[in-house]
Amino acid sequence: MNILVVEDEMMLREGLVDLLEGAGHEVTAVADGVSAVDAGTNGTFELVLLDWMLPKLDGVEVCRRLRMARPTLPILMLTAKGSEADKVVGLKTGADDYVTKPFGVKELLARVEAFERRAARQPSGAEVVDLDGCVLDLGRCRGTRGDHGFELTAREVGILRWLHRHRARTVSRGELLQHVWGLSPEMETRTVDVTIGNLRKKIERDPASPAIIVSVKGVGYAWGGA
Ligand code: CA
Repeated sequence: MNILVVEDEMMLREGLVDLLEGAGHEVTAVADGVSAVDAGTNGTFELVLLDWMLPKLDGVEVCRRLRMARPTLPILMLTAKGSEADKVVGLKTGADDYVTKPFGVKELLARVEAFERRAARQPSGAEVVDLDGCVLDLGRCRGTRGDHGFELTAREVGILRWLHRHRARTVSRGELLQHVWGLSPEMETRTVDVTIGNLRKKIERDPASPAIIVSVKGVGYAWGGA
């Protein structure tokens, strides 16, 4: 599996990387909450091992943000907090499971394997959306319109996922900046418009008259098929 490890204690982080790579996984490691949201939102990870106490953003907040951007991404919390109340907070925030520190190597690997088995049982291609003659395979970062195939960047997939997930309403530029880019919603928002302009050239039948990502004047963007 492609695993994101989020742990600020260097010894533990390196130990986890060695352990998981030794078990045949691909591992990326980051040391703070902001990097975790950035990597987890835009990467192609299949599991996140997330420490609870982190600099910049704590594990609960990271979990909440990842959950919004990637609803199906499995999250395993690593926590020194063993009390039942803390576990409940972690699980309510959207963690799928937790391991209490200090944990045994065998226990951790067993939990990771359980996620792997669960993933193998899930039907693939669950993230395919079909609209206005365009088929978008968000899980594999690509799409087709008629005979024409194209690749999607991780950022473009993030935008499409967010709009599709919130297709019942209009999404503001600031919201996209915050959840897809991991930036402050108050930053200048030309970036969003430029990226969506390029994305429309790939996916829309007529980019000048979009039917998939529609503009909502004065507010932002909306999924066209709502
Ligand atoms: Ca920590």
